[in-house]
Amino acid sequence: MGHNQDFMRLRLPLRSRPLLSGLLCAFALPVAARDLPAPVPVTCAVALPAASQVAAPAPAAGAEPAQPGDPQATGAGFIPASEPVGDEIGSEPELDAPHEPAAPVPVSLSIGTPDAGLLLNPVAMPESAFWTIRNPVETYGTQETVDYLQRAIESVQRQFPDSPRLVVGDISRRDGGRLNRHKSHQSGRDVDLGLYYAVGEAGDFRNATAKTLDVPRTWALVRALVTETDVERIFLDRILIRALLAHAREIGEDPDWLDELIGRHRNGMDAILQHERRHQNHLHVRFFNPVAQDCARANHKQLVDQGVLPPPSIRYRIRKGDTISTVARRYGVSTTSIKKANGMRGSFLRAGNSLRIPMQRVSVQETPVVIPPRLLPRVGATMEAAASDAAEAPGRP
Ligand SMILES: [Zn+2]
Repeated sequence: MGHNQDFMRLRLPLRSRPLLSGLLCAFALPVAARDLPAPVPVTCAVALPAASQVAAPAPAAGAEPAQPGDPQATGAGFIPASEPVGDEIGSEPELDAPHEPAAPVPVSLSIGTPDAGLLLNPVAMPESAFWTIRNPVETYGTQETVDYLQRAIESVQRQFPDSPRLVVGDISRRDGGRLNRHKSHQSGRDVDLGLYYAVGEAGDFRNATAKTLDVPRTWALVRALVTETDVERIFLDRILIRALLAHAREIGEDPDWLDELIGRHRNGMDAILQHERRHQNHLHVRFFNPVAQDCARANHKQLVDQGVLPPPSIRYRIRKGDTISTVARRYGVSTTSIKKANGMRGSFLRAGNSLRIPMQRVSVQETPVVIPPRLLPRVGATMEAAASDAAEAPGRP
């Protein structure tokens, strides 16, 4: 890595302080047991979208999501550092409030998408008395993902003190990308989370039924994920979803909100809580990362230019004697991916023409990430009240 790199730092407006201090606190937790790569210094200015500032349940009609192009909401994107900065984390306070003792931290970047992405400046899921980490080398996420997980699990512990440990399964590899058996989990935003069981602590993922699931605790977890974090999806088997919703109705949760949670009025499209096969022993949780996704978008090109990230593709001039398999072998990619990237049907290469070689399967985000407002129950809503109330729940893009 060169010496002329800029240092990534957060410039967040005052109104997003609560989350920021959360980030900083979480960063200070001991994660020393596991090696982290040297942080990649990048300057990043991202203001959190309005939805992220909602800390407590509020009336369901939430704030409008940030509009693309709104500088107030999306930040200024890449801002070159004006002065050289050392490698030491926390050497230069950069926040706009002078009384804030906070210092810049290397911001995690969630690059691309969960199915085709990378992770930069990863954060290891810290150890805790509240959870068990299944496989430390596959439990790296963005700062936001780790922070959200902690917040949700701690919320369960507050409501149900002395709950058994939850199993935290795969998040991402240290640098993201393909994680063995998974299709997703590539960009530090996906987490496999265990369940709470009626019969004590589980050391690993274990299939649950409506009977063996600790429904109140698992519902508290789902509820915390939805109301206290920027969750995008929660995948779970429908048998367990049904048990959770029945419980939620029983304890008087806002029924309109529950309907919205499973997308009842939209055939489940874009619902947060969705059925997924083979998810009877864990929740697959996907978070939005307002900071890590937008920082990645703003800095992707710069990082590729600096050689920090691999280019999405390169151009190769075909030479006499080249075959698609020799070219594929030279770049360590598959012949299929070359054909696909160039819209080829056959394998014929013409010397002198150029070929696009896909180097890394990363989808590049072109427009600012729009995080929908958090889906929150209406305060004081009851089954009776809701039945007579046809108020529309907020739409989700
Ligand atoms: Zn998963």
